[in-house]
Amino acid sequence: MVEDESRMRDLLERGLGEEGYSVDTAQDGPSGLWMALENDYSAIVLDLMLPRLDGIAVCERLRAAGRWAPVIMLTARGEMDDRVRGLDAGADDYLAKPFGFAELAARLRALVRRGSTERPPVLTVGSLTLDPARRRAWRGSTPLDLSPKEFSLLEMFVRHPGEVLSRTRILEQVWDFAYMGTSNVVDQYVTYLRRKVDKPFGSTDIETVRGVGYRLKSGSHDAPQGIGALNDPQDRYCDPEQLDQVKRYPTSLPRREGETRE
Ligand code: CA
Repeated sequence: MVEDESRMRDLLERGLGEEGYSVDTAQDGPSGLWMALENDYSAIVLDLMLPRLDGIAVCERLRAAGRWAPVIMLTARGEMDDRVRGLDAGADDYLAKPFGFAELAARLRALVRRGSTERPPVLTVGSLTLDPARRRAWRGSTPLDLSPKEFSLLEMFVRHPGEVLSRTRILEQVWDFAYMGTSNVVDQYVTYLRRKVDKPFGSTDIETVRGVGYRLKSGSHDAPQGIGALNDPQDRYCDPEQLDQVKRYPTSLPRREGETRE
C-alpha cells in the first residue's frame, strides 16, 4: 500500500491486516515503485497524489517494467480526469476518497481473486514505450497523442529497432497489401510521426536512410560496445534486397551522433 497520509496509511494497514492480508507500506512514489518492482504482490493499493512520483507515474512505470500485479488507485472525489488517467496508466480499479473500508476490502478481494491478467509485453526502445494492447505510447513518461495510423507506423519501427525499413515494406504492413496509393504516404506519415515523437523532445530517433527508407535508432542499451560488426543491426536484420541497396549507397547512410563504427 502506497499512501503518504500517515493516518490513512495506519488505518488501512490495520484494517487490511484484520482482513488477513500481510501488508507492506510505502509513503511516497519512488519507494512504492521500488517495493513493487522488488516483490510480487497480490495487489497494490496506490494513492494518486503522492510525493515525488504520483500514483499514475508509479503505475505506468510498473506496467512498463512488465509488472502486472492488480492496482487499485485511490483518488480524491470527483477527479474524473485523474480516474481516467489512472485507468489509462494501467490501474485495474479506482476508489474515490472518502470511501468506506468495507468497499475497499470488497474490491481488493475481487482483484486478488482475479489475479494479474496476462498481457502482451510492453515494447521499449530507448525512451520510447509502446503498449500494443492498449494502443498507447510514451516518450519517457509523456504520453504521445497518435492517430491509429501513426501508432501502427511507430509500432512497426519499435518492433524492428535499428532495422532499415523500406517504404514498400512499411506500406504493405501499415497500409496493407490492398493499398493502391503511392509510397509518398509513408514519407508523409513519417513527417507526422517525427512531429509528435521526435521534435518536441529534441530527438532524431526516426532516421532517413536515403534511397532505402527509414530506421528507428535502437536504444544505446541495445548496442553494447565492443561487439562490433556482429551487433550491427543491418547485418542482423536486413533482407537481402535492402542490404543490396545499403551496399549500393554506402555513403548515403547517415552516421548516428556519437556512434563509433569500424
Ligand atoms: Ca495522498
